[in-house]
Amino acid sequence: MRLLIVEDEVSIANFLCEGLEEEGFAVDLADNGKQGLQLALDSINEYDVILLDWMLPGLSGIEICRNIRRENKTVPIIFLTAKDTVDDAVFGLETGANDYIRKPFSFEELLARIRVLLRTKENEVVVFGAGNIQMDIEKHVVTKRGRLIELTQKEFALLEYLLRNKGKVCRRTRIIEKVWDIHFDYDTSVIDVYINALRKKLDETGEPSLITTVRGVGYKIETVE
Ligand code: CA
Repeated sequence: MRLLIVEDEVSIANFLCEGLEEEGFAVDLADNGKQGLQLALDSINEYDVILLDWMLPGLSGIEICRNIRRENKTVPIIFLTAKDTVDDAVFGLETGANDYIRKPFSFEELLARIRVLLRTKENEVVVFGAGNIQMDIEKHVVTKRGRLIELTQKEFALLEYLLRNKGKVCRRTRIIEKVWDIHFDYDTSVIDVYINALRKKLDETGEPSLITTVRGVGYKIETVE
């Protein structure tokens, strides 16, 4: 899952980036309105959620939100706002935002709201399974035959992406776009390293791998159990 944060207050921005990366999200950050809108509209970046500050240098959060919707982009948007009147909230939602949260907010609350939006988007699926493996997105755990498997955040994010697309081939470039952030240099060989790590942790000795290599294209988790 990939997130865009548009926030000019450095302390909040860093706090959000750190927290969300720890949760396994790939996070891009813009510290002004113009850059935020540019990233949001660039077709290379397909964000799953955008966190938008209200008061920003350059363009305001409202203007960014309106522009995104004008381009018919349906990406869920959450406003981060210091304004706290009901009118402001209504205005925020009328611009096409999906939700808003008032500063100061707790990280847990923000995370819960992000998960709600992702759940709506993905038709409420929060538990994924394949073979002996189960992944619970909300609890952020992966189990093999009911036993907990320790994954790094990137391993978790990669497995999540493959499971969300179970039965489909996940192209290498798409994997990079969804699991790594914009600062990544697009050397897709890093995927193989992570796939190998996942296989070591998830596969049974002597049995076919959970993750199939689709030569020259990418990877796939089969739907057939
Ligand atoms: Ca601000």
